[in-house]
Amino acid sequence: MSGSGAGKRLTDGRSISESFQPMPQGGVVVTFEDITARKQAEQALADSEAKLQTALTNMSQGLLMQDAEGGIILFNRRFAEIFQLPQDQIRPGMTVPELMKLAASTSGLRDLEPEATLAQLVKVLHDPAGGTYVQRLNDGRSISESFQPMPQGGVVVTFDDITQRLADQAEIRHMAHFDALTELPNRVSFYDQLDTLMKHQRPGEFVGVLSLDLDHFKAVNDTLGHPTGDLLLQAATRRMQSCLRGEDIPARLGGDEFAIIQTPVKDPSDITALASRLIEVVSAPYEIDGRQVIVGVSIGVAVAPSDGTDPDVLMKNADLALYRAKADGGGVYRFFEPEMDARMQARRLIELDLRKAIHNGGEFELLYQPMIDVKTGKVTSCEALLRWSSPERGLVMPAEFIPVAEATGLIVPLGEWVLYHACVEAALWPEEISVSVNLSPAQFKSKKLVQSIKNALAESGLPASRLELEITEQVLMNESEGAFSILHQIRDLGIRVAMDDFGTGYSSIGYLRAFPFSKIKIDQSFVRDLPGKKDSIAIVRAVVALSSSLGIVTTAEGVETEEQYASVTTEGCNLVQGNFFSEPRPSTEVVQFFKKRFHEDT
Ligand code: C2E
Ligand code: MG
Ligand code: MG
Repeated sequence: MSGSGAGKRLTDGRSISESFQPMPQGGVVVTFEDITARKQAEQALADSEAKLQTALTNMSQGLLMQDAEGGIILFNRRFAEIFQLPQDQIRPGMTVPELMKLAASTSGLRDLEPEATLAQLVKVLHDPAGGTYVQRLNDGRSISESFQPMPQGGVVVTFDDITQRLADQAEIRHMAHFDALTELPNRVSFYDQLDTLMKHQRPGEFVGVLSLDLDHFKAVNDTLGHPTGDLLLQAATRRMQSCLRGEDIPARLGGDEFAIIQTPVKDPSDITALASRLIEVVSAPYEIDGRQVIVGVSIGVAVAPSDGTDPDVLMKNADLALYRAKADGGGVYRFFEPEMDARMQARRLIELDLRKAIHNGGEFELLYQPMIDVKTGKVTSCEALLRWSSPERGLVMPAEFIPVAEATGLIVPLGEWVLYHACVEAALWPEEISVSVNLSPAQFKSKKLVQSIKNALAESGLPASRLELEITEQVLMNESEGAFSILHQIRDLGIRVAMDDFGTGYSSIGYLRAFPFSKIKIDQSFVRDLPGKKDSIAIVRAVVALSSSLGIVTTAEGVETEEQYASVTTEGCNLVQGNFFSEPRPSTEVVQFFKKRFHEDT
């Protein structure tokens, strides 16, 4: 009987193996071998295998090792998890198709695009450098798989579930191209799409661009708050979309600005149909948070190729047309016309000259036009009217430069100049005569108005009771709350406020009751038609009746003839103003005029 006994461990740490060899004649040969090194090597191998297992088990990636025939040598827990494979059913030597079959039978997991995966797999496996591809699974996940060939044949594959990363990337891409509030394409993607469409335009086909802007949206936002404004924008967006066909592309360019690409357009009447429909649908009242909200929409239209062959020019022209639609009162659409561009250029040139004139000084002058009391025949007040003598342009009337000054904010310094000079000159007039100064809506938006009025009075020494300020309804419409507060501050200084051009705007009786106006000036367009036109008489009569019931004085503007004068006095106007009595004149001349009238009367 031969054998080897269990190894012995000596106290010095060495392991000794002992072998017994019995001899035929009896006795035994015992051999000893020092196996310390072998034991240590075995232990080290076991340790490193354990470490490898721990690493494999805890890897965030799935891992699979295949031999040259495609059979699996090794896999980790994450691999089984990703493919929802029962670990105990995975056998060494199984191939990937077999594993996919196993997955399908146990959890129903399948490849979403098996052909595409196979094609990719073949490509990657034939590449000595390996490679990566993304496998899409039928449960919506995407798995990135990286193949690394091994020198001795076979391949190591790592698996990453990149579903979330792809979703995040898609979200970021979405955010870069869509507006978060309305989910409409944003400005960037609008221009991209317009560019593409214009490049691929076919002969005989048009691309229409509609530039939209909501009317009075700012008022809604300011008075009802931004959350309501946001809801309104979303509701307006849905209504716009309800007017569009599948090919039309809407976008939100910012704030309350929208744009629509209409394509393909066979006939311009397609665009007019869409534009009128949009105005009708978007302008209908909204019900938001239990409140009725009303906004309108203005639309400018430009058509490619006739109005521009690149997106920037086309949009610029659509905006010019929009500008026109707004200037025409809003709630309408306008097509671009080349004159609009010319007019815009002209305005820009006026702006440049106006800036220069304000900077240099000496080009402006005030003329004064008297208002005469019908009963006494005396001048009660003179209206200051601005004139600009430009070295380049000659005499420029307010109708030409005041709108530019308002749009550019230049009215603020210009208005200050007017206030100051009107007060200085009026301080030299007889003390029963006041001066009336026109104020623009834009001046109410600047925070300096009340202060500049105080300064003008203080520096000129004119009593507040001799200053009257003329405003139009526009002031109250745009931003009524701020404007009312400024108007009250003005009245508290002892200054009177007149409502100018009454009858041309909304002529809301509400405005007249909301603020104690000292005077209503009936617009000259009604006076011009007197005494022949019946409706004008009716309007003048109604305004006079309304004013006198509210205790407000009425002035008829623009009286040019004896007949008109007779007519407005018959209707009961208290004051008259117009070329029939005096054209606007320089201050020195108007003082002569007072004297002359004074002599006539006495
Ligand atoms: P408004 O305040 O309604 O001024 C009356 C306008 O009617 C003046 O035109 C005046 O010259 C004109 N007018 C007076 N009587 C007659 C008449 O019998 N027949 C006709 N056809 N017209 C008459 P103007 O001076 O051209 O001013 C036009 C508008 O420009 C003014 O209308 C006013 O809104 C604005 N404006 C004038 N000066 C200033 C100013 O200093 N500041 C501001 N913000 N606006 C001003
Ligand atoms: Mg006026
Ligand atoms: Mg007027």
